[in-house]
Amino acid sequence: MPQLVKLGYEVVVEAGAGLRAAYPDEGYVQAGATIGSYADVWFSDIVLAVNEPSVNELETMRPGSTLITFLHPRQNEALVEALQKQGVTGMSMDMVPRISRAQSMDALSSMANISGYRGVVEASYSFGRTFGGQVTAAGKIPPAKVFVIGTGVAGLAALGAASARGAEVYATDVRPETAEQVESMGGTFLKVRTGADDQGVSSDGYAKETSDDYNVRAAELYMEQARKVDIIITTAAIPGKPSPKLITAEMVAAMRPGSVIVDLAALGGGNCELTRPGEKYVTDGGVTIIGYTDLASRLPGVASQLYGTNLVNLLKLATPEKDGNLVVDFSDEVIRNMTVTRNGEITFPPPPIQVS
Ligand code: NAD
Repeated sequence: MPQLVKLGYEVVVEAGAGLRAAYPDEGYVQAGATIGSYADVWFSDIVLAVNEPSVNELETMRPGSTLITFLHPRQNEALVEALQKQGVTGMSMDMVPRISRAQSMDALSSMANISGYRGVVEASYSFGRTFGGQVTAAGKIPPAKVFVIGTGVAGLAALGAASARGAEVYATDVRPETAEQVESMGGTFLKVRTGADDQGVSSDGYAKETSDDYNVRAAELYMEQARKVDIIITTAAIPGKPSPKLITAEMVAAMRPGSVIVDLAALGGGNCELTRPGEKYVTDGGVTIIGYTDLASRLPGVASQLYGTNLVNLLKLATPEKDGNLVVDFSDEVIRNMTVTRNGEITFPPPPIQVS
């Protein structure tokens, strides 16, 4: 908050906005903000929000104002059009490019990191056994076996959290170069046994849709693991596409009763055929499937802290004179990439960006 004031902004915080994150209104006032109503906030020149607005909320925004939040423009054409019609500049936090210079603004990574950790907390809560092994006078407890599919930011965070709790962790990814990171965090990398090394990777380092051969071999590996492990954590996402279905109903049926699946790709429909996005339930075979789509919000204190820092870093970049004037400068590749509407025009999709 003081950092936004230093950049020349007057800051209005919606009453009670920080309560769940244990940030009471008084703290914001002490830091130089005023507390306003919901309508005051949406009528501001720049609105910083956690979630995308409804069309009703958008209609309360002033033409010429700027909205900065997760807009998911690839999946949300109607919202982009509504922003354009309303004359609002839309800057999408999920479009911050994954380049070194933009790391301090990369809210996708900061939220994925928290989600991975929280996914393990949810799994351990639903799993009726310990993660770490023990030998006690009352008998031997084996360590839990955890299998992580997709070792990007969320998957590695999950792997680290499960490994720190003493679980035996196995992981796989379509990008074989993640093997080193997996091993360095105490996991065992399981490579899908195909001939080619990089068939699931596009030129910008993200996963792309996989070949039929890869899918068949991967399914063999997943079935093998489903029979062996206690917990499966899936994080496989392809930007702008529905999540690939990797865990079939048959694989779920092969898991032991008491096992847990945490599907971190639930927002995109899920990596497991049986995931119900937003829900947790137990199958007839006794497997708990967790499809929560708000895992980062389930750690609101740290999510607010990191997302707030990402927003402040963006405003530092976009307020070069520190005079409370936001400059949406298209010669800056970070700002260009994330701006979906400006001056009454749709500016999405952005031109391709060089990944550093
Ligand atoms: P993501 O959320 O897009 O995907 C999660 C993981 O799932 C990825 O590792 C992906 O390879 C994997 N995956 C996708 N489809 C799969 C499939 N069918 N089977 C198995 N695995 C599958 O990933 P992310 O965490 O956002 O990271 C994506 C890339 O961006 C990574 O290369 C990451 O290192 C990179 N990155 C770079 C920066 C930077 O600033 N330079 C920041 C963050 C991430």
